[in-house]
Amino acid sequence: MDMTRADLSVRELLDLFKNGMLRANPEYQRGIVWTPSQSKKLIDSVMRSYPLPLIYLHHIKKEVSGMKREDLEIIDGQQRINALHQFAEGGYRLFHPVEDEEEARFPEFLKSQPCPWGGKDFHGLSDDLKTRFLDTKISVAYMTSPTDNEVRDLFVRLQAGLPLNAQETRDAWPGQFTDFILRLGGKPKIPRYPGHPFFQRVMGMKPSSDRGKTRQLSAQIAMLFFGRREGGPEFFSDINSPAIDDFYYTHIAFDASCPDATRFGAILDKLDALLGTGLHPKVRAHDAIHLALLVDTLWDEYTRDWEARLLSALDQFASSLVKAKASKDSTLPDEFWLRYGQWTRVNSDKGDRIRHRHEFYLEKMFQFLGPLQMKDPKRSFGPLEREVIYFRDGKRCAVCKAPVLWNEANVHHLRPHNDGGKTLLENGVLVHRHCHPKGNRLLEPIAVPAQEQTTQTQPLATGNPLLRTELTYTSQNCKATGRLTDKGFLLLNGSMIRKEQHDSTPANVVAIRKDAISNGLLRDEGDNYQLMRDHLFSSPSAAACFVSGNSRNGRDVWKDAQGRSLKQLEELGLG
Ligand SMILES: [Zn+2]
Repeated sequence: MDMTRADLSVRELLDLFKNGMLRANPEYQRGIVWTPSQSKKLIDSVMRSYPLPLIYLHHIKKEVSGMKREDLEIIDGQQRINALHQFAEGGYRLFHPVEDEEEARFPEFLKSQPCPWGGKDFHGLSDDLKTRFLDTKISVAYMTSPTDNEVRDLFVRLQAGLPLNAQETRDAWPGQFTDFILRLGGKPKIPRYPGHPFFQRVMGMKPSSDRGKTRQLSAQIAMLFFGRREGGPEFFSDINSPAIDDFYYTHIAFDASCPDATRFGAILDKLDALLGTGLHPKVRAHDAIHLALLVDTLWDEYTRDWEARLLSALDQFASSLVKAKASKDSTLPDEFWLRYGQWTRVNSDKGDRIRHRHEFYLEKMFQFLGPLQMKDPKRSFGPLEREVIYFRDGKRCAVCKAPVLWNEANVHHLRPHNDGGKTLLENGVLVHRHCHPKGNRLLEPIAVPAQEQTTQTQPLATGNPLLRTELTYTSQNCKATGRLTDKGFLLLNGSMIRKEQHDSTPANVVAIRKDAISNGLLRDEGDNYQLMRDHLFSSPSAAACFVSGNSRNGRDVWKDAQGRSLKQLEELGLG
């Protein structure tokens, strides 16, 4: 097989494509069509002059009845060429690094750089940028071969077949993140990549024969670790294959000697030192993720007491999980199944499922590790306690009830510290930094009665006082609390829900309750259920029906602290 290399501009490549001289051979289709996000990121990397992978074309010369014809068939690069073509035709607009951050997931350093193409489609670009795009050079390899088979063999090797799976492709990606992961995960045939002993001794993985599995897991743990270091503990990205690809792509400028990278290595060193003796069951992949993140949280501010207790805490967690698995088909599965085990089954690489598991993992490990000593005994809560309280309180402020971002989160002593209040989980509640009672008010309890809240001047909250009023509904002996939001009715964590259902209970309520039990939103408390997290309903009536098991007019049954119904409050003009 012969190969010649050339650099074509995007303009030339698209001209070939538009003139039908660059053809897709259905046999070389991967079957995987790119998502819009992948296309947008490709163009973004063109605009940033990032190197693009080689495009492979099969150069076919035919002579039929004295007529000559040349064709180019795409062996590898179909999705990239489609993406370039559709963009040049005005088919989609590019990511704006800040406005589209949810979807684009660009790293911070990119968000602060100028991005004059952000949010624009091709026609919206300045002439300079259009030219930059069309003049970008793309490396192309032209393959010629007397037999089709050789080309097919190349295709198979390039795509999915023998040498290149997803991780092995990433191993060739430019930039230092690739090298960082090769060093951690190991590529034992290359002496400078022996791999970190954590994966081999503590987890029993075998990078020499697992075709990149160890490196992929190192990349997954590293992604979550760096994501949380950058975005705070609520930041859990997906870690499925496209997300890992994205991470490699967006971290092309990764600095393997940055403090966070050093810290990550040190955490794995510590885990290997503590657990590497093999006197424990192998740590499995899901658990390794949570373990590394837990140690990251413990690292700076607690004394090293936790080190001696880690092994036994892990054993307790693992054995509880085994027991819980046996209960999964019973009517009342164990919480280790409901809040952890079941989330390791399907879509376990989705960020929100990892977060679910991690909230539970922190809570339990905090318990199993026993009382933790802060290095510098202060009256403030430690990072692990803050994290547990943050998730336990559903990321909501105890003062204003609005959602709290991690960087504005404070923990307030319910019973004031000066008053003998302990720095314990039970005595801490989540508040906004700006809501945190200060100065003399430190002596006041935090639980501000609902009516006081509504009369306070509250410039931070929305103008509608009803949105801040805590409402209750008591059905039989079940007391539920909630409040209106501009998105619907929020039923608050701790609300009690009537267990009994009747023939008149609407079918959708039966279904929602069943679902809520299976995903841990409702906990069985014997006679009743308890709501374990805040939950948003479409209307006050929907929430009331969920609580009582019967159709209810929410505007009649939800009442404020003075017993006025929602309807009356609205009529009073409070709405
Ligand atoms: Zn607040």
